[in-house]
Amino acid sequence: MAQNPAGKPLENGASGGPKFKVAIAGGGIAGLITAIALLKNPGVSVQIYERAKEFKEIGASIGLGPNGLRSLEKLGVENALSDDVSARQSSAWPMIYRHWKTGEVIGHDVHKTVETKKHFTARFHRAHLHQALLENIPSDVIHLNKKTIDVKADPDKGATLYFEDGTTAEADICIGADGIHSNVRKTFVPSHTLHWTGWVALRATFEASRLKDLEFPEDAAHWIGHDRNFFHSHLGKGLFTTVGGFHADPSDPNAPGQDAKWDDLGSLKDFKELYKDWNPTVRAFIEASPYIRLFPNFAGKALDTWSFDNRVTLVGDAAHTHGGAFAAGGSLAIDDAYALHLAFNHVWPASPAQTDKPTKEQIGEIFRIYEATRQPHVNRLLGVVHNSLAGQKTTVERGKTETDEQLRERVSKRMDPWWISEHDVDGAFQVAIENIEIAQEKQEGSRPRL
Ligand SMILES: Cc1cc2nc3c(=O)[nH]c(=O)nc-3n(C[C@H](O)[C@H](O)[C@H](O)COP(=O)(O)OP(=O)(O)OC[C@H]3O[C@@H](n4cnc5c(N)ncnc54)[C@H](O)[C@@H]3O)c2cc1C
Repeated sequence: MAQNPAGKPLENGASGGPKFKVAIAGGGIAGLITAIALLKNPGVSVQIYERAKEFKEIGASIGLGPNGLRSLEKLGVENALSDDVSARQSSAWPMIYRHWKTGEVIGHDVHKTVETKKHFTARFHRAHLHQALLENIPSDVIHLNKKTIDVKADPDKGATLYFEDGTTAEADICIGADGIHSNVRKTFVPSHTLHWTGWVALRATFEASRLKDLEFPEDAAHWIGHDRNFFHSHLGKGLFTTVGGFHADPSDPNAPGQDAKWDDLGSLKDFKELYKDWNPTVRAFIEASPYIRLFPNFAGKALDTWSFDNRVTLVGDAAHTHGGAFAAGGSLAIDDAYALHLAFNHVWPASPAQTDKPTKEQIGEIFRIYEATRQPHVNRLLGVVHNSLAGQKTTVERGKTETDEQLRERVSKRMDPWWISEHDVDGAFQVAIENIEIAQEKQEGSRPRL
């Protein structure tokens, strides 16, 4: 970012013209990394408007795959890749699958395109990842206690954000990074709905020292049961996480968990009951958990477009309501920001000759390339999520009928998630550019010659 001698961002662009003003609604993972990515261009100024009054240590574990980590590195966010903030497997297996009763390893995933341990799947407490991103952003661009309730866009002028406290903010573009329940999305796509998937995660995060002398396999693993799973992992800064959960049929009016509220305290007694017949190691992890918090899972269908009136676009969970599937949300948000940065620099590269802001046509082009880079991948993932949602009832039924042999076969035939965790954003960007150029050439070729 262009800096003055005191280290403050300059008001004007590289050549002294007015900066292109970006207003970001939401200061979560997506909002912060988008700010970092766009501030790479010295002609851009960013303001972040976050609804929370303060950033607190809310949340539990969040994983970043090689895709998100590589994008962070390309954006220069080295501190988030450090072993000081997250934990990586000691083996080369990003995920290990264990039998719920015997503890045997019945499957494992492998990294396919990863050349350095730095890019191995890393697991953080969400607050630590958030803090690592915050360290890369000038504090004066963040405005807390600013809940966006509405956005108006004028293709010729810009975007106005309306906040709950009655104030407003104007910018050249608005980026909705306000999470799965996004108000920015609701403004432009009021018909989009979210539904409870039937799954409620039960999460705890605590000091690993609480496990005392327990002997257990060091590496993170999913323990697979007939109708429920259990996950455990070391996190950065000496923390440890456990994630259990239960599946219910969301179409059943009496389904357990349907009234669960996000981040509410749950019952440790019920948690223990749910896993009472499981392997002693799992039960010991649960015994060590000081509390349990509920995270009911919500998801929604793919959006036709993420951009509106050439002035507003969406990133992160606001753009794709995949409901936390495959622990992909953090990396998807980071890859969105990186793709937006690539699109931005393609259409409006930082240059000393820069005098004007991008035109509305150029902004439209940036958004078009951004969507063309991200949507094919994200929509494929949403397709998988919605297919598996349809099977939620089956999961509940499976608990009553599945044999041990069938469980092992299910694990051996599971989908290999490497296309999600090792997705190549640069490659997708190149394909998007080529496709757009081919479409433009076709369009020009079909015009009658004068
Ligand atoms: C407090 C919190 C804890 C989480 N904990 C976990 C976790 O433990 N594990 C996990 O896998 N995922 C967790 N998630 C979700 C995960 O962070 C996201 O799926 C992923 O990182 C994508 O990030 P995002 O920025 O798109 O959405 P989010 O991380 O949800 O961030 C959205 C941000 O926008 C703010 N916001 C929402 N509405 C408005 C509004 N109207 N105006 C202004 N600001 C608004 C929110 O306060 C939040 O800071 C958590 C999300 C939050 C908000």
